[in-house]
Parts: sequence; structure tokens; C-alpha cells
Amino acid sequence: MFLFFSYFNLFFLGVAIFLCHPCFPARIVPESVTVITSESQKTQTHNATWHDFSKFLYAERGSHVSGMSELKKYFHRFGYLALPETTPNFTDTFDSQFETAVFRYQKRLGLPVTGKLDSDTISAIMAPRCGVSDAATHGIHAARHYAYFNGKPRWTRGTPMTLTYAFSPYNMIDRVSVPEIRAVFERAFSRWASVIPVSFRETPEYDKADITIGFYLGDHGDGEPFDGVLGVLAHAFSPQNGRFHLDAAEMWSVDFEREDSRVAVDLESVATHEIGHVLGLGHSSVKEAVMYPSLSPRRKKVDLKIDDVAGVQSLYGSNPNFTFSSLLQSQNSLNAAIGLEARFFRWTTLSLALVVLFLCV
Ligand SMILES: [Zn+2]
Ligand SMILES: [Zn+2]
Repeated sequence: MFLFFSYFNLFFLGVAIFLCHPCFPARIVPESVTVITSESQKTQTHNATWHDFSKFLYAERGSHVSGMSELKKYFHRFGYLALPETTPNFTDTFDSQFETAVFRYQKRLGLPVTGKLDSDTISAIMAPRCGVSDAATHGIHAARHYAYFNGKPRWTRGTPMTLTYAFSPYNMIDRVSVPEIRAVFERAFSRWASVIPVSFRETPEYDKADITIGFYLGDHGDGEPFDGVLGVLAHAFSPQNGRFHLDAAEMWSVDFEREDSRVAVDLESVATHEIGHVLGLGHSSVKEAVMYPSLSPRRKKVDLKIDDVAGVQSLYGSNPNFTFSSLLQSQNSLNAAIGLEARFFRWTTLSLALVVLFLCV
């Protein structure tokens, strides 16, 4: 009998320990970060630029891994690491400067700040992303996470402001039809227009448009060459430049039900993100925000979040028809649902632990 109870209690204790694990603050897996699996690594082989970075998993200060200089170039490219002063090239050693860069990167992307190349960090590095440097931004607001370009540039065209946009007649793609591309951009522009007193109008006069949109392959003359499938998806210039470039090599999609490629990228999500840059926003460290720098394949992220809205309104003011309450309402109900679920789980595990304690006595 005693033996039976011991085994019985041991079983429940095991179950309780297993179930109690989520009582500790759960780390939310970033939605927009590619999780490393053999499947996604197969996917990543399409991207000649970054697919090899998984070999640096678990590297930390003092590690020496062949090819780490390439990873340092990535950190340099996106604004986290200065060029070496004493040597002509980056070395393959995980030194203290690189550790500082990893800390900054993790903080900037809202990752656990460990200073090591853990799986969250490597996944974030390998995720397809926007080509705009994270260092081109500054002045992260204390309470928010949005950012601007240096000097906080914005469009100045009077009030109410209307900005025109046009598609390059020579730099389009045939994967998606022109009417579909126009509809995608109309929706993307209207999302931003609904929160600020700025409207957008398409014009056929490409040379006179404020915002010029085109799809380009590889080196296209602005010093920021595209890199083929995945890697860098697009980039846009700060106000009042208006250039908006998309990588023509991507498997651009407007409907994932019609597109079965595992490396398909949602055109509307990228369009919405890049318009944020065109308007003067930098990258946000809020993973759910449209202005977060990376976007996984086959993921749609088109709805502006509070962080995006607060950022763009601090540049242009609010659209008189916009209310924060509707945005807050939708996000609060989501948070409330998550909170309720967590509370229920904590109570369930607590009750089970009490049952185990009772049985143990
Ligand atoms: Zn961006
Ligand atoms: Zn470009």
C-alpha cells in the first residue's frame, strides 16, 4: 500500500513539475522570426547570403568559428558593428566588440539579451528582413519602441497633405498582375492615411511622383544591391526622397491560397512596412509592429499596431477621423484573452500542486 502510494505520488509529482514549468514567465516565441528546422534550412538554401549562419549556433565570447567574419559583416551592414580599426578585415573570433554588437542586436530586436548566438538570435539573423539599416534610426521613445531616421525627416507639403505615388514603367514583375499590385498598394497606403492627415494618390506621371515604386534585381545603382530569394526583401529611402525598391527575385504573393511556394512573401505586408520608412519611421523593436525589421515567408502582417500609429502620428499628427480606442479595443481584447488563458493555466497547475502536496502528506 505504502509502495503504491509512493509510486502514485511520484507520478503526480512528476506531472505537477512538468505542468508547473509554464508558471514561470513564459518567453514568447517571436512570430516574425524563422525557427530553425531542417525544413526551413532547406528553404534557406535559396538564400545564398545568410543560409550558412546556423553553424554559429551557441557561439559565445572566445569562440572561433571559421566564417564568422561573414556574420560580422551582417552585423556591420545592419548597423551594429563598426569596421575593425587595426586589421583590414573582420576576424573569425567572437571578441568583445562582437559581443557588444550581439547585445545591441538582441535588445533592438526584442530578443532575450544573452550576448550569445543562441537559437532565438540565430533564427532572427536568418529571417528575411528589410534592407534598411537598424542604425539609420535613432531616438527610441522611452515608453514606445518606434524610431525615426537621423534628423527626424518628414514630408512637408502643407496641410492637408497629399503625396503622389507611381510605379516604374520599366521595373515591374509578372508573378503578380499590375491590377493586383495596384490594389495591394492602394490598401497599404490607405492604412497609413487612416491614422495621419496625409492622403496618397496614384499618378501615371512617374517622373513627377513623390513616391516612386519599382522591382529591381541585384545591383540596381543605389549602393544597396538585392540578394535573390529571401535575405533582403525590400528597402525604401527616408523623406523626402520617396524611392521605394522591392527585390524582384522574391516569390511575391498576394494570396497564399493560390501560391504554394514555401518562400512566398506577402507583398502587402512588405508594402505597408516600406511605406512606414517612406514616411520617416525607422525600425521598431516591437515584434508585432509593422515596423519590426523582419518578416517570415508566408506570413501576413498588415495591420498597424499602437507602436506604428504612435510613431507616425508623432511625425504628422493624427487624422481627425482616427480614434485610438478602436485600435486599443482590438488589441486589449487580444491581450485579455491571452491573460485569461495564462491565469487559468496557473490556477490549474496550482490546484494540481496542492493535490500532490496533500497526497504527499
Ligand atoms: Zn524596414
Ligand atoms: Zn534600391
